[in-house]
Amino acid sequence: MKNIIFVAPPAAGKGTQSEKLVEKYGYTHISTGDLLRDVRSEGSERAKTIIEYQDKGILVPDEIVVDLLKDRLLKPDITNGYILDGYPRTIKQAEILTAMLEEIGGADYIVIYLDIEYELAMQRTLGRRGCSNCGANYNIYFEAFKPKIEGICDSCGSLVVQRSDDNEETFKTRFETMAKNCEPVLEYYRNLGKLYDVKVDAEAPEIFKKIEQILSSDQ
Ligand code: ADP
Repeated sequence: MKNIIFVAPPAAGKGTQSEKLVEKYGYTHISTGDLLRDVRSEGSERAKTIIEYQDKGILVPDEIVVDLLKDRLLKPDITNGYILDGYPRTIKQAEILTAMLEEIGGADYIVIYLDIEYELAMQRTLGRRGCSNCGANYNIYFEAFKPKIEGICDSCGSLVVQRSDDNEETFKTRFETMAKNCEPVLEYYRNLGKLYDVKVDAEAPEIFKKIEQILSSDQ
């Protein structure tokens, strides 16, 4: 299977689709948002920077993200195939990534753009919750994605929480940042012949089918 790079606005379903792809095909999921969140409690200078930028919904400086990403891509589990979620977000990041993958391997990938409407993305973001222990995803605004017991994870029984940047104001900034930077990134991958467009016009299982069709057509 080809490696996958997801380019998408917040709450387009990168996390949910990645989970399914990991489960079914054994991919390793790399989310730069998660890599950055893992550093927030470190107490270092870079942790302070990350907290400040993430909580405003703006892009964390490239040097911090690039170091974390490179370290992650060099781990051995990557050989099963990776899904990159949340990187690249700008044309500069796309160029950095191309150079990185040429150097360390893993340049055999496709790019999937999850194209979601603003209103739906907003609703999903404000309802989004995650397990504080195992990371399972929930959404309190969609019946099928609510935890069975309010506030408690179905899989492990831990508390289900909301991300500090999943509020209306930060969502707007994140969506606008994405909209502004996205087109050049898509153009970059379109020119490389690696881009696939997926319209988010259905529930997660339907979108998953579309992604599987792309994977089986691009061998
Ligand atoms: P979402 O896609 O819903 O915004 P993420 O977890 O991917 O959620 O990102 C959350 C935040 O982490 C972003 O708003 C940004 O501050 C930071 N971040 C994630 N990926 C990157 C990146 N590639 N470059 C810079 N900052 C990033």
